[in-house]
Amino acid sequence: MSDTTPRLEIRNITRRFGGRAVVDDVSLAVMPGQVTCLLGPSGCGKSTTLRIIAGVDMQDEGTIFVDGALVCDTIFRVPPEGRSIGLMFQDFALFPHLSVADNVAFGLKGPKAARRARVEELLARVEMLRFIDDYPHELSGGEQQRVALARALAPRPGIMLMDEPFSGLDNRLRDDIRDQTLSVLKEEGAAVLLVTHEPEEAMRMADEIALMRGGRIVQQGAPYNIYNAPVDKAAAGFFSDIN
Ligand code: ADP
Ligand code: MG
Repeated sequence: MSDTTPRLEIRNITRRFGGRAVVDDVSLAVMPGQVTCLLGPSGCGKSTTLRIIAGVDMQDEGTIFVDGALVCDTIFRVPPEGRSIGLMFQDFALFPHLSVADNVAFGLKGPKAARRARVEELLARVEMLRFIDDYPHELSGGEQQRVALARALAPRPGIMLMDEPFSGLDNRLRDDIRDQTLSVLKEEGAAVLLVTHEPEEAMRMADEIALMRGGRIVQQGAPYNIYNAPVDKAAAGFFSDIN
């Protein structure tokens, strides 16, 4: 595997519900250490695309590769836990009956001391080490979010899939949490596919934006290029409320 092998690549993914293609021939790649944003309005097929990559839904057509190896086509399918993928979804809450430490340790295997060291390393990284023995209900929304990030990253997934992870937070916190999340993701070296309907979030976080509409990717490129040279009027309009 070379540096030019995408960590994650999907080719020609199509998913139909009742004969309608809600994901329609979507292809994209995420390079190691990069954040790719799947950006588009509500209902355009973003979450369906992520669920297929995670392995909790199945495409009707197309293939998925992780580090150049096939993990799923219409015949062969690696189960979700075998894909080296971490998930962070808005409604993917912490386990309420487990402490912060046990939440972060949840997906970890191996000797106890090594698990504990990894938990402490990650909690330090998200600046939550002092809350290690607390329970989720004792934390603010932003603090829970940071623990959820630590939990998702603990098993060292090569790929992180994030579906509108910041939409439950109030505006005041959001920019700080976005910036902190980005720096933790970069330190951990994960390839990130971030779903959002907010152009501002994509501009702030992405190395690459894939603009999606009606199940299709209509434009793909660096944030600056997409912002400055939108493919059509609808794309321009979508970016127009960023200040
Ligand atoms: P987004 O995340 O961009 O808001 P989704 O991927 O959730 O969009 O949904 C895309 C479209 O697919 C929507 O019209 C939605 O109603 C439809 N859809 C999603 N899941 C199902 C399902 N299980 N059965 C039927 N339609 C679905
Ligand atoms: Mg969605």
